[in-house]
Amino acid sequence: MYRTVDQLDRVVERLVATAPEVCTRLPLPETSRQGRAIAALRLAAPDGPPVDERPGVLLIAGTHARELMNPDLLVELAVDLIAAHRTGADLVLGARTWTGGELRALLGAVSIHLLPCVNPDGRTYVLTVDDMWRKNRRDNPGTACDGVDLNRNADILWGVTEGQTSCTPCTDIYCGPAAFSEPENRNVRHLLDTARIDHFVDVHSFSELVIYPWGHAPNQTTDPAQNFRTLPTGTCRPLGRPGYAEYIAPDDLAEFRRVAGRIVDEIAAVRGRRYSPEPGMTLYPTTGTHSDYAWSRHLSDPALARTYGYTIETGPAGDDAREAFHPRDPEPIKREVESGLLGLLQVAAGGAGADAPSTVTG
Ligand SMILES: [Zn+2]
Repeated sequence: MYRTVDQLDRVVERLVATAPEVCTRLPLPETSRQGRAIAALRLAAPDGPPVDERPGVLLIAGTHARELMNPDLLVELAVDLIAAHRTGADLVLGARTWTGGELRALLGAVSIHLLPCVNPDGRTYVLTVDDMWRKNRRDNPGTACDGVDLNRNADILWGVTEGQTSCTPCTDIYCGPAAFSEPENRNVRHLLDTARIDHFVDVHSFSELVIYPWGHAPNQTTDPAQNFRTLPTGTCRPLGRPGYAEYIAPDDLAEFRRVAGRIVDEIAAVRGRRYSPEPGMTLYPTTGTHSDYAWSRHLSDPALARTYGYTIETGPAGDDAREAFHPRDPEPIKREVESGLLGLLQVAAGGAGADAPSTVTG
């Protein structure tokens, strides 16, 4: 039901062979801890502006190993876009129909980067040994406990153990020995460093959320001096600042809410499930996440362009965590989130449809 790492790779290879004018395989510089090669896929049709001058989107999945459905979702999104490119056929996702014309327009307007499986070692371990494994497969010296939580290892307040972040290797939320210590995470950073990425989404499970910054503290829009650049990192202690709230410019917060709202609408259009758009802190406090890192980059270095960063938590919470992480029938969840991601691509494309409310047909 869920693809192996090899099967995910084969889908990418087949797409490149089928539509080489649109699909480019991007080998990434780092192999996984256990030596697996990792590649991204870029989709961009030739009938538009030069690829590196277009708005860019980066979608990643499989950061947490046991969240099995999301890597499948990303390769299926690519398959559906290429099918539309080749045949012009509409894509019917439950009650939401995306026309072939809409999908072709996205491929001509946006440079779409997909990293379907950030953590291939972890996925392989989940599919063969332990179906509830979350981290990568780093061997942590001096302990019997393996793995780093790849969504605590990025360089945004790294090692500040606020909320669900830990410096203890035997926890599921271990941030690693240093920011970007993990090769799988350096691949994500490489894509942000080398491509124009206006919008970034890290697809996780579960809880039916569309998350935007910030993760470590509540948002505030009035005091720019109260910001993460003034806080120490690598402390292995919580923030320890009662009342601290992180600055986000009012216009930026409005943009995050607008785009998250569009994603939510396009998800709901498929079968009525309404995901909640909210700042990361509302779920639980975190540091070192991919999506906050993506957004923080232009604040840490004003020479960089801004990247709006989101985390989507796919599928409902339930009493059975196994069923929530890898449901017996992931199909309806994948299709609704596919629609949400197409909505984001339309936002990135700008122009017609970018601000339109969702339309429900079929
Ligand atoms: Zn996750």
